Amino acid sequence: MNNGIDKKTKILVVGLGFRSGLAACNFLAERDYSVSACDQKEAQLLSGIIEKLDGRVNLVTGSQDPSLLDEGFDLVVLSPGVPVAIDLVQTALKRGIPVISEIELAYRFMKGGIIAITGTDGKSTTTMLAAHICRQLGFKSAPAGNIGIPLISLVDRTREDFISVVELSSFQLETIHDFRPDVGVLMNVTPDHLDRYRGMEEYFNAKMNISKNQTEEDYFIVNGDDLFIREHIGAVAPRLLRFSLEDETADAFWDGRYIFIRDGAGRTMVCDTTKINLIGVHNIQNTMAAVLAVMMYLKKKNIAVAPDMIAEACYSFHGLPHRMEPVTTIKGRQFINDSKATTVGSVQMALRSVKDKCVLILGGQTKGDDYSRLISDIEKRVRTLVLIGESSNEFSKIFSKFNPVLATTMEDAVQKAFQHSKEEDDILLSPGCASFDMFDSFEHRGEIFKKAVESLERGNQ
Ligand code: ADP
Repeated sequence: MNNGIDKKTKILVVGLGFRSGLAACNFLAERDYSVSACDQKEAQLLSGIIEKLDGRVNLVTGSQDPSLLDEGFDLVVLSPGVPVAIDLVQTALKRGIPVISEIELAYRFMKGGIIAITGTDGKSTTTMLAAHICRQLGFKSAPAGNIGIPLISLVDRTREDFISVVELSSFQLETIHDFRPDVGVLMNVTPDHLDRYRGMEEYFNAKMNISKNQTEEDYFIVNGDDLFIREHIGAVAPRLLRFSLEDETADAFWDGRYIFIRDGAGRTMVCDTTKINLIGVHNIQNTMAAVLAVMMYLKKKNIAVAPDMIAEACYSFHGLPHRMEPVTTIKGRQFINDSKATTVGSVQMALRSVKDKCVLILGGQTKGDDYSRLISDIEKRVRTLVLIGESSNEFSKIFSKFNPVLATTMEDAVQKAFQHSKEEDDILLSPGCASFDMFDSFEHRGEIFKKAVESLERGNQ
């Protein structure tokens, strides 16, 4: 790749309130491009960001009016949080001005190989694990993208032998043009962000952009157990591989204990899942996806590695905070922080991963999903349902047959969860919603949960 962008190009970065917008501005300014940025927020709301902005960037705050384009821009770089539907972007497209994501911008400058990962859930874990495996095998590699490290900030580190492992949201994938990963991974597709998409097909099509520029030299790995993917994938140009918890004919599969990779008629055992440090069956999917992605990347590059080195890499990975993170055990109850669970699919997976019975803390800011899909898993696994956040009224109705307990704060939720639990239960925060009604972020929510659990522990000593 490394096409760069013509030095005369006049660039407008739309959306500065996101790390990738700021990183894109600074990257371009440092390379002497003429770059402007705009954000609909007023300057005072962007103060922490403006301080870090390169002085050469011409900044317009409090506006994303289409008239900004009258300055004669040749390229628009869109932050992932800004919808393509806004007038400014639509006007740019009508005028024939290319609109690209920061991912696409980085792609034009970076070197080396790319493993790219998308899906509704499991992206971050799979991205971190794949990068961890690459590094444990001795390659230069780093995770980037939606994980919180703008891909553009990795560009200067990339060399021909570097492997970038890129987490991609559907928003980032809406505006790629030439981006072509060596290996693309689609973890799953369950309803999410339906407040931004007109339906599941539109959401799925955005995710499928991950493979739109791939050719038969590349690999595209999908979850073979995902019904929506199976029904909608159709024919694709790259070599298509599947991972599965159920189907022994898949390219990576799990027999209840070991992960096998199929190659032609043979199969190789690569990992004993009783030795991985991650809770839940979904993390076996994530492990299969990461292992298969790295192995296919190495196959493409004709690099051989011993499977037991990959296994050792999997065993030394410790997962990410706020994703089925064990906190502590109080009087026989294990507390688990799954604050990152913001979709119905991730709560379903959490419930299928806990011990026999749990107390579930659920709720927050909803995202247009059908939460009644949780009823059958709650029925099987949940002893008591504790509700928090602005969804409490709605959820009280949907889940009325479980007599949910209402909590006002996280501390209150943790105490009520404990009161309604029995020895050997898990106490699980898996909210299924965004956090912004009560917290700054899912990380903030998870930290407050952990503090509340700590203070409960002190009270029980
Ligand atoms: P993402 O980056 O896609 O949000 P994460 O790895 O951060 O994915 O996990 C987000 C939430 O989804 C966590 O609650 C986690 O326990 C759950 N999760 C992780 N992997 C999967 C998966 N493969 N399928 C369903 N849920 C998952």
